Amino acid sequence: MTISQAAGNVCTVSALNTKKHQTTNSVDSEVIYLPNTDCAIRPQAYLSAFTSYRVGGAADLYVAPRNLEALQASLKYAKERDLKVTTLGAGSNLLVSDRGISGLVIATRHLRFSNFDPQTGQLTVAAGESIPSLALAAAELGWQGLEWAVGIPGTAGGAVVMNAGAHNSCIADMLVSAEVLSPDGTLETLTPEQLGYSYRTSLLQGGDRIVTQATLQLAPGADPAKVVAITKEHKKHRLNTQPYNFPSCGSVFRNPKPYSAGWLIEQTGLKGYQIGGAQVALLHANFIVNRGGAKASDIFCLIRHIQHQVQERWSINLEPEVKMLGEFQGACG
Ligand SMILES: Cc1cc2nc3c(=O)[nH]c(=O)nc-3n(C[C@H](O)[C@H](O)[C@H](O)COP(=O)(O)OP(=O)(O)OC[C@H]3O[C@@H](n4cnc5c(N)ncnc54)[C@H](O)[C@@H]3O)c2cc1C
Repeated sequence: MTISQAAGNVCTVSALNTKKHQTTNSVDSEVIYLPNTDCAIRPQAYLSAFTSYRVGGAADLYVAPRNLEALQASLKYAKERDLKVTTLGAGSNLLVSDRGISGLVIATRHLRFSNFDPQTGQLTVAAGESIPSLALAAAELGWQGLEWAVGIPGTAGGAVVMNAGAHNSCIADMLVSAEVLSPDGTLETLTPEQLGYSYRTSLLQGGDRIVTQATLQLAPGADPAKVVAITKEHKKHRLNTQPYNFPSCGSVFRNPKPYSAGWLIEQTGLKGYQIGGAQVALLHANFIVNRGGAKASDIFCLIRHIQHQVQERWSINLEPEVKMLGEFQGACG
């Protein structure tokens, strides 16, 4: 079973917010059809449409392959032209610069496939599958193990890379293996040990390998009603304690143990502090929300302001959990 069995053989070119726009690395504004696939690369695609913050400039080139062959063809295209490749999942942990991203952005969100194997209790999913949907699907089957993940609005690929976690569980706890594609087209199956997991990190971060699929060990055989109830309870708790009503990236900073970043920011008096359209959320101080019309630079400068203030008050360096893509130099004047 591989993701090449996923439905369709066409890359997504529709519904893209594209414009002619000058970024760091200018390219033709024609759609590029990849040979031997129906896959198309779109120039000047605005990434604000593909990030949960709803900010970010254009990718020089953007492609969202629907299967492994199209993904490999996209990588080959980039390699032959010496283009930098940036991988996007659901864009729920990203801050993309207003100046956009040079090279080719490959979004894996359309790599779709899932298989619940009752013999092994393993769930194998393509990188683009939505984590909240998988959590609900598992619960409805009476499979335990993903209840904690229902509020994490990312893809399986992003969760593997980020070691996404909540409620004292994380992907590393249940990952059996991840399949990754290297720039030279080689596919490898890696164990959690090979991925070097720790709190919200893996060896895949900052690298050039693309997660294509993952296998998770779950526990079938429970009462679906009970698993659904626990899953919904987690969702409810998050809706009550985190600001899901405005665009955000979830927690902006890693928790500097033994402290929580949110507590430090709140104690520093920054709840509600705003730069442009970016605000430290009133409900949860480790969230920065886009109150409307925020630029990536507003969010970036607010991150820097928080770091500076917390450093002054507590002598603690808050390390961002959000991944920043593109150029931010001089963004704060
Ligand atoms: C409201 C809200 C709540 C959140 N709550 C939580 C939470 O409780 N716990 C938590 O851990 N996170 C949370 N997040 C953050 C985010 O959802 C997770 O980090 C998630 O795992 C990111 O997945 P993604 O698909 O959106 O990845 P992206 O944000 O698109 O990418 C994240 C990183 O992974 C890389 N990447 C993505 N896909 C691939 C791939 N297929 N192959 C290689 N690299 C890839 C990207 O290059 C980037 O470096 C929250 C976010 C929001 C908006």
